[in-house]
Amino acid sequence: MNMVTEGLHHVTAIGGAPQRNIDFYIRGLGLRLVKKTVNFDDPSTYHLYYGDDAGTPGSLMTFFPWSGIRSGRVGSGQSTATAFSVPSGSLGWWQNHFRELHVETAITSISSDEERLTLRDPDGLVLELVASSTVDPRTPWDSASVPAEYAVRGQHSSILTVTDPAGTLRVLTEELGLAIVDERADRFRLAAGPQHPGAIVDVIADLSGPVGLTAGGTVHHIAFRVPTRDGQEQWMHQLADHGYQVTEILDRQYFTSIYFREPGGVLFEIATDTPGFDIDEPLLELGRSLKLPPWLEPSREQIERAVAPITVPTENNPAVARS
Ligand code: ZN
Repeated sequence: MNMVTEGLHHVTAIGGAPQRNIDFYIRGLGLRLVKKTVNFDDPSTYHLYYGDDAGTPGSLMTFFPWSGIRSGRVGSGQSTATAFSVPSGSLGWWQNHFRELHVETAITSISSDEERLTLRDPDGLVLELVASSTVDPRTPWDSASVPAEYAVRGQHSSILTVTDPAGTLRVLTEELGLAIVDERADRFRLAAGPQHPGAIVDVIADLSGPVGLTAGGTVHHIAFRVPTRDGQEQWMHQLADHGYQVTEILDRQYFTSIYFREPGGVLFEIATDTPGFDIDEPLLELGRSLKLPPWLEPSREQIERAVAPITVPTENNPAVARS
């Protein structure tokens, strides 16, 4: 039986200085830092997770921030833009908000029912805020930086750029269970289930552009949702049977993960919805202190010396605890 994902789980990108990253995603984009931990594969580096109040799958954007990292190149073989869902009619507010923060933006429209505001984060990562006529029922994080009526509802879509879309489309449809719902010129839209924000992948075929180079300001991988570890295990076997080089199940503390590279060059992950971000700190206190998985806890002193201290703005606390 073929497996079907419910949509996007998270997007992970490479950033620069961690403090600048935190300030931008909390104050600029109005997301909540739901976990301050380290890269389990390189514990001298932070791993910062942003999302809604609880870090619900489909709301998550995560970073490996390295101070002084060289800039990457956005291009084929990558997820070249990460789109977030915002309410229709909110783009004017967002434009003013980013103008005050000295962030350049541009509004474009791909179809009559979808407007998008494109901007770059401080490291050059391409972000889009999508206001679509489809109402997004997800509850936003009640941030002191961005009023709830305009706030990000979660991921909208990931935009993948590849030189030859055939293999990418095949993996997305045959292995992940998405369906092609729109096709125009060199742009394909795929959706997991009904075309809800958070369950959309756009694939752009681009032969003439540069080849992507993964470093600062680029996406490292995108992750799709699976409810449980049992389902994940089935998926791992299915992918291996179909000839993909898929990793073992890796424990990411807040979910478990498998990874494989799709034929267009983009690194895909399949991540579980459980156990979630309140496994090691209460919901009200998410992001407040450096959390480590049990196997890194013995090295805490060394790790805390290695990562630069960062300050989490008080906007990150729930309204009741904010002062
Ligand atoms: Zn990931």
